[in-house]
Amino acid sequence: MDHDLKRTFRFAPSPNGYLHLGHAYSALLNFDLARDCGGRFLLRIEDIDTGRARPEFEAAIEEDLAWLGLEWERPVRRQSAHFGDYARALERLDEMGLLYACDCKRSDIARAAAGKPDWPRDPDGTPLYPGICRDKRRRPATEILRAGGVALRLDMRKALALTGQGLSWREFGCRDVAADPAQWGDVVLARKDTPASYHIAVVVDDALQGVTDVVRGRDLFYATSLHRLLQRLLDLPEPRYRHHDLVLDETGEKLAKSIASTALRALRAEGWTPADIRRRVGLIL
Ligand code: GLU
Repeated sequence: MDHDLKRTFRFAPSPNGYLHLGHAYSALLNFDLARDCGGRFLLRIEDIDTGRARPEFEAAIEEDLAWLGLEWERPVRRQSAHFGDYARALERLDEMGLLYACDCKRSDIARAAAGKPDWPRDPDGTPLYPGICRDKRRRPATEILRAGGVALRLDMRKALALTGQGLSWREFGCRDVAADPAQWGDVVLARKDTPASYHIAVVVDDALQGVTDVVRGRDLFYATSLHRLLQRLLDLPEPRYRHHDLVLDETGEKLAKSIASTALRALRAEGWTPADIRRRVGLIL
């Protein structure tokens, strides 16, 4: 069958630590869903944060996934090799007048929000940007970034005015979910040290790779509002979404890459088998 007609799933880890049980669940679920519908399964290495990504973690990811019994298409897309694709998307938003260069420090934002308990916060709990640089707009913003500017922000009000109402997404097992990108405010889409944010890279890559089904953890549920907005602005196709539950540790807390005890390689060294991992995350073959 032609690739274009196949449902396409992906697992997209960031190589800044060892994979743990939560990653195993996400990777196995994507793999199983792809296999069950005769679809494609891709691995994408999300290493745009070159300060934190490490080649040894990338090698460990492939080793752990192969040990779990997964197979994926090659070549693997590594985001650090595609900054040009993200720059083109940013330039397009810039040409639409939707970006501005911002040189505020975290402390400038904290000062604006200080003593105001009602100051709006994004879904990650970060105070929304007060718009200090929005009105100093100089264009093209992407050139300012290249010339040493600090960050590029999306002018959320302008973006919403362009896309209008009614942005939503198809979430597995639910009615359509209404997207609410405004809750992210004037989000940063690029920084001097990281020339593409996760948000811009993920929507560009999902489109370029023909991903039809984005299956990822609940922790990224709210980010989907922003992803839908960027897809609409950039004329990218809309994938289906499925935000799965997170695997919790014995105390009911979210697993973190820093908790070495749930790293797949630690469990493997203790004698766990891939079947044990599947049972622990609730995915029996
Ligand atoms: N790279 C992200 C992470 O490791 C996942 C991104 C996604 O699945 O959209 O959390």
